[in-house]
Amino acid sequence: MPKIFKVGGERILPGETKIVNIHIASLYDYTELNMPVKVIRSKEPGPKLFISAAIHGDEINGVEVIRRLLKKKVIKKIKGTLIVVPIVNVFGFNNKSRYLPDRRDLNRSFPGSKEGSLASRLAHCFMTEVVANCTHGIDMHTGAQNRYNLPQIRACLDDQQTKELSLAFGVPVVLDSKLRDSSLREAALKKKKTILLYEGGEALRFNEEAIRRGVDGCLRVMSKIGMLPENAEKPQKGHLAYISRVTKWVRAPHSGLVRMVKKTGDSVREGEKVGFVYGPLDRQEYPILSDVSGVIIGLSTIPLVNQGDAIFHVATFTDSAKVKRAIERLDLDY
Ligand SMILES: [Zn+2]
Repeated sequence: MPKIFKVGGERILPGETKIVNIHIASLYDYTELNMPVKVIRSKEPGPKLFISAAIHGDEINGVEVIRRLLKKKVIKKIKGTLIVVPIVNVFGFNNKSRYLPDRRDLNRSFPGSKEGSLASRLAHCFMTEVVANCTHGIDMHTGAQNRYNLPQIRACLDDQQTKELSLAFGVPVVLDSKLRDSSLREAALKKKKTILLYEGGEALRFNEEAIRRGVDGCLRVMSKIGMLPENAEKPQKGHLAYISRVTKWVRAPHSGLVRMVKKTGDSVREGEKVGFVYGPLDRQEYPILSDVSGVIIGLSTIPLVNQGDAIFHVATFTDSAKVKRAIERLDLDY
C-alpha cells in the first residue's frame, strides 16, 4: 500500500496531480494569502523532488523555469513525486521585493517556527509541508537587483550525492559553497535531504539563458535520481562542469561612474585591469585591478559605485581557460 501523500491538508493519491493552495497568512485587510503548490504523483514509486523559486520574492527566473518545465511532455512520464513551488515568498513577489513585509529575509529564517514572525512561520510551513515530504530539492535564485549571475550551482560538495547531482545539472560552474546560517539549504541538509541551489541571471528580469539552463538542469537532475529515464535530456555536446572552492569580489577603488572592460565568463589575472572608475567632470580614470586570478561569474549591472562596492565576482579554478571555453557556449546578457 503506497504511503499517503499529504500537502496542505490535501491527500494526493498515486497517479494524481493536484494544485494545493497552502494558507500562509491574512493581510491587514483580511485578504487571505496562499502559497500555490503543484504536486504530480506518479503511479510508480520513486524519489520525491521539490523545485522551489522566489524565496527571495524579486528573483523571478525560477518562476519561469518551473512554468516551462511543467509544459514538457516528459513530465507525464515521471516516477515518484514532483512538488513545485514557483513562488515561496508570495509577499515579496507581489511587492517586487526580496524581503517579507517586516524586511526579514526568508532565506535567513529557516527552519522557522509555528509561533514566530511572518518569515519564521512561512519558513516553518515550507519545511513541514514541502521539505519534509521530499527526498531531494532544487531551490532557484538569481543575483540581487542590479547584479547578474552566471548560471551556476551552489552546493555543499562534501556530500557525495550532492556533488554528483551538482555536476549532473549541467552548468559550467559549480561553487562548493559553505552553508549560510538559517538558510533553507542548511535546514534541509540537517533533515538529510539532498539539496542544490541554482543561481542564474538577475532580480526582476527574465534572463533567457538562465531560464533555459535551469529547465535543462532540472530535467538532468530528475534523470540522475531516477525520476525520468536515463538520457531523457541529452547532455550538451562537450558539456563539463568545473568546481570552484574560492570566490572573491573585486571592489571599487574609488566612488564614481564605472566603465567595465570585462564581462561575465571572461578570465582575469591577478593585477589585470577589469574596468575604470571616474567622476562626471573628471579627466582622471582610476583603474579597477583584479586582486585575484579566475573567471568572472557575476557582476554589478549598474555603472554607479561607492568606494568599496562589489563590482566583479571572480571564482578561482585550477584551469581558468577551460572554464572560459565552457562558458563561451552560453548566450549571456552581460
Ligand atoms: Zn536569492
